[in-house]
Amino acid sequence: MRLLLIGAPGAGKGTQAELLASRFGIAHISSGDLLREHVRAMTSLGQQVKSYVDRGDLVPDGLVMDMLRKPVVAAARAGGYVLDGFPRTVQQAEASYAVVRELGVEVQAAVHLDVPADELVRRLLARGRGSDDTRAVIEHRLEVYLEMTVPLLDYYAGREWMFVVDGSAPTDAVHQDIVRRIERLAAFAQPDRSGSGQAQSASQPA
Ligand code: ADP
Repeated sequence: MRLLLIGAPGAGKGTQAELLASRFGIAHISSGDLLREHVRAMTSLGQQVKSYVDRGDLVPDGLVMDMLRKPVVAAARAGGYVLDGFPRTVQQAEASYAVVRELGVEVQAAVHLDVPADELVRRLLARGRGSDDTRAVIEHRLEVYLEMTVPLLDYYAGREWMFVVDGSAPTDAVHQDIVRRIERLAAFAQPDRSGSGQAQSASQPA
């Protein structure tokens, strides 16, 4: 299974991605976690992206895509992934679609974790992750989200594999909500469970 989680900073993407990864036995790939690891380890990518991450700005598309290509393809071949934090812009969605489509590893469902802005700020201040969780940087990350990622939600709106869940509900309830929606989608995509298997194999992960 191949899933995308989209939501504002503080929406709970990381927490929900972990739960989905263990529930479905798929890999959790977080662009933010990978970038922070590179920064911590001071790799050459880490040195290139540090200032963007610290300011709460988006890292240039090419760098993020180069970083993700291998883990995403490997995870897709090993049974699937839940991708958290990518794509974040319409440009990233368009550019990556061309690549994953060719490899047959395009996403099967995208989840928008919807949380009101005041709740986001409260959660982010409580989390205090480090240099990118100060009030000024948090506010900037929320602005970047409104400016760059909300258009991505509009771009995906109306696709049958995209759905919105209320991310302000308790963690468990959000998880159950997502699982129910995914199962409904999967049942819809695999109508032929008992028959020749043709319809089923056509919608199996690559
Ligand atoms: P949050 O969702 O809480 O903002 P993330 O952990 O997803 O945090 O991302 C942290 C930072 O990593 C972002 O502020 C940005 O600098 C960078 N980043 C993560 N994903 C992307 C992406 N897809 N494109 C560009 N930059 C990204």
